[in-house]
Amino acid sequence: MSETIVQKFGGTSLGSVERIDAVAEIIKKASKKNKIAVVVSAMSGETNRLIDLANSFGNNPDKREFDALVSTGETISSALLSMALHSKGIKARSFSASQIAIRTTSSYSKAKILDVDAKKILDVLENDTIPIITGFQGITEGGDITTLGRGGSDTTAVAIAAQINANRCDIYTDVDGIFTTDPDIVSNAKKLDSITMEEMLELAGQGAKVVQTRAVEFANKYHVPVRVLSSFNDGSGTLISLKDESMENALVSGIASQKDQVKFTLHSVGDIPGTAFKILGPISEAEVEVDVIVQNVSIDGKTDFTFTVSNEDQEIVKKILSNIKDEINYKELIINPDIAKVSLVGAGMRSQSGVASKAFKALSENDVNIQIICTSEIKITMVIKEEEVEKAINVLHEEFELDK
Ligand code: ASP
Ligand code: MG
Repeated sequence: MSETIVQKFGGTSLGSVERIDAVAEIIKKASKKNKIAVVVSAMSGETNRLIDLANSFGNNPDKREFDALVSTGETISSALLSMALHSKGIKARSFSASQIAIRTTSSYSKAKILDVDAKKILDVLENDTIPIITGFQGITEGGDITTLGRGGSDTTAVAIAAQINANRCDIYTDVDGIFTTDPDIVSNAKKLDSITMEEMLELAGQGAKVVQTRAVEFANKYHVPVRVLSSFNDGSGTLISLKDESMENALVSGIASQKDQVKFTLHSVGDIPGTAFKILGPISEAEVEVDVIVQNVSIDGKTDFTFTVSNEDQEIVKKILSNIKDEINYKELIINPDIAKVSLVGAGMRSQSGVASKAFKALSENDVNIQIICTSEIKITMVIKEEEVEKAINVLHEEFELDK
């Protein structure tokens, strides 16, 4: 029985005319058996080039025009890929976000998809034609062009797969799939054949960069199975499955890390209701994402409050905290940018104990000091010194025998 599959191709997969030709071959082959809808990124380097261009007249370009400009890379890819398919005798048509009505919120450069004209896509498929849709782009209620944030084409692909009820979304990239950890850090990192959606969500949220986090959230919410695979090499990639079909969950499936982090500690704040909200409320209002949040037990009614944010938000957080200094009445603000997060993720942690102590032991034997520990059901996050990240990951990868 024929399935409907959304195939998404990233920038490196479409990086040259030769690459576009190779991608057209992949689509051609897949379209013999299944109905295929395609979502494309800009050719590699193109979005960066457009962003640089946007800063030609001062580095604070109008937000609407910025998105109008940087969204054009995807338009180029979609038309070119469509032409490549025509040259192989395959019926294809390029579509921009406005043509397919990918409606988004109006927050430029980080717009969120609200709706897609599924009927339009289904009509094209019905005509045995392959729609080649621009990723990353959206359109507001008023018809202005938006973009979804860097890496946003993944989200477009999953959103379209959800809306047309596709059987799967295949995300083609330049690596063979999802690995136990970054192969640039651990040379014997292993490609995973499958991983559960919840594990992928945690890994993506903690720094694994292969698929945009928002795309995984979408896939989880709308129950779209996703496969991540290479457009350069043959292979079945990694299936991100909705249900874990294997009998036993892996204790640790993968290790992710994030370097560009800053740790803020408000020393000696009052242990009274409302303190956490007074600190984090204005920070979340400024759309800053806060991760690892810890508050210690109090001594004499005073406690320490610590959290991490990404480096790029350091200045704005500093400003917010100095604005609320009188209200919160902290004694000292300690800012440490020399930190990183390392996270172990595995669905098996839910039912088996001892993962944390095993990790702590391995790190201590290798003189890695853990500054903060923060856990969820299937994740352990440790904040350590930035320069020790590679070492820590190698130690943990070995300890949990992830290469086996
Ligand atoms: N072209 C956009 C970017 O470089 C979107 C994407 O590739 O997913 O971020
Ligand atoms: Mg990408």
